[in-house]
Amino acid sequence: MSSTSRHTSRPASAGSFDVCVRGAGAVGSTLALALSAGGLRVALVDAAPLRAAGGEDLRTYALNARAVALLQQLRVWDALPGDAACRVNRMRVHGDAGGQLDFSAWQQCESEIAWIVDAAALESGLAQALRYAGGVERLAGAASEPAAQLVAVCEGAHSSTRAALDAGHVRTPYGHSGIATRLVADRPHQGTAWQWFRSPDILALLPFHRPQPDASYGLVWSVPEAEAQRLMALDDAAFERELNAAAGPAAGQLRLAGQRASWPLALGRARHWCGAGWVLAGDAAHQVHPLAGHGLNLGLADVQTLAEVLLAARRDEPWRSLGDERLLRRYERRRAAATAAMAVTTDTLWQLFRGDMPVLRELRNRGMTLLDGLPPLKRWLIDQARDLR
Ligand SMILES: Cc1cc2nc3c(=O)[nH]c(=O)nc-3n(C[C@H](O)[C@H](O)[C@H](O)COP(=O)(O)OP(=O)(O)OC[C@H]3O[C@@H](n4cnc5c(N)ncnc54)[C@H](O)[C@@H]3O)c2cc1C
Repeated sequence: MSSTSRHTSRPASAGSFDVCVRGAGAVGSTLALALSAGGLRVALVDAAPLRAAGGEDLRTYALNARAVALLQQLRVWDALPGDAACRVNRMRVHGDAGGQLDFSAWQQCESEIAWIVDAAALESGLAQALRYAGGVERLAGAASEPAAQLVAVCEGAHSSTRAALDAGHVRTPYGHSGIATRLVADRPHQGTAWQWFRSPDILALLPFHRPQPDASYGLVWSVPEAEAQRLMALDDAAFERELNAAAGPAAGQLRLAGQRASWPLALGRARHWCGAGWVLAGDAAHQVHPLAGHGLNLGLADVQTLAEVLLAARRDEPWRSLGDERLLRRYERRRAAATAAMAVTTDTLWQLFRGDMPVLRELRNRGMTLLDGLPPLKRWLIDQARDLR
């Protein structure tokens, strides 16, 4: 496709802002912070009314080392309340016919495999940091269209601005929903994350400190949509019974410690991430199954790369508009392979574990156990997950 055919009506004039970031989720907010830290003037537009600190998101995110390093650099991470993030020291993954994988930070000589962070606390920490960020102006309401050289679309998986651009976005629903809630166990988690890959569900327990330090988990349970509706409609006692039957005794007796929410899961990808005057980042560009806990990690890596490209251009090519498509393609080229690889990995795992054929079951469980006996490959997998360059 020619670059002309991807032109939009969006003006690439030097407006009052250098960049207009659309969407103040974790990706858009972090991008606004990173750009303003580099001296750019940023408008941050969100469809939702500006929220007071403390959101309602029930999720816990698994964040990798690269994402945490970026949030540290932007002074968001260290300002989070002490109980809002928890180190994962060990990860135990189970198949549906005896397959097992055990990752340990200690064996890999790392201080942690990943961090689990409270989604609402992260959102609140980002909002707090934005209040002190000199170059950012926050505007509420999707109708706001401040003039800027570049519009960075960070509106998430269902972006309406992306729909009006020639991005070629394709969304393939998995037919599953992810149920999230908070749990408390009757024994300490010791920083262990648990995951059960079965057909048809995938269940993850992410160690956490809220509401009870050292004994809480964030639940992410991916189940077929009809089953998700049934589980969501159960009363708390019945839900707890089904959850404990599914998880078994490994993590202890689990009880609900909050409301439940569910999200329809899909694989999504835009064919084009940029055009003259616009660029996509985060879930607006790519959406993956949460089974590996990577969606936001990919989005924050987009932020880091996009900020590097834009700030380098401002420094080294001051004559160039930040909305120049050739400039934005540098970002797309640097991110496309990594995000495509993660989409293929999560989708392959999903396909491998959804089938119920005995031969497939045998294969996937043997594969897991085989991998468990190969320390160099496990080390490589941990390095990929940490995503440190
Ligand atoms: C159950 C579940 C568990 C997950 N667990 C993990 C995990 O452990 N680790 C991980 O890395 N990822 C995880 N993810 C993925 C992660 O949630 C997403 O990748 C991440 O939230 C994407 O952030 P975003 O800012 O791109 O989009 P969003 O979080 O969707 O934010 C988009 C923002 O744009 C705003 N907006 C929308 N439309 C407009 C408009 N027209 N104009 C202006 N603003 C607009 C919205 O109000 C919102 O604030 C999980 C996802 C699910 C569903």
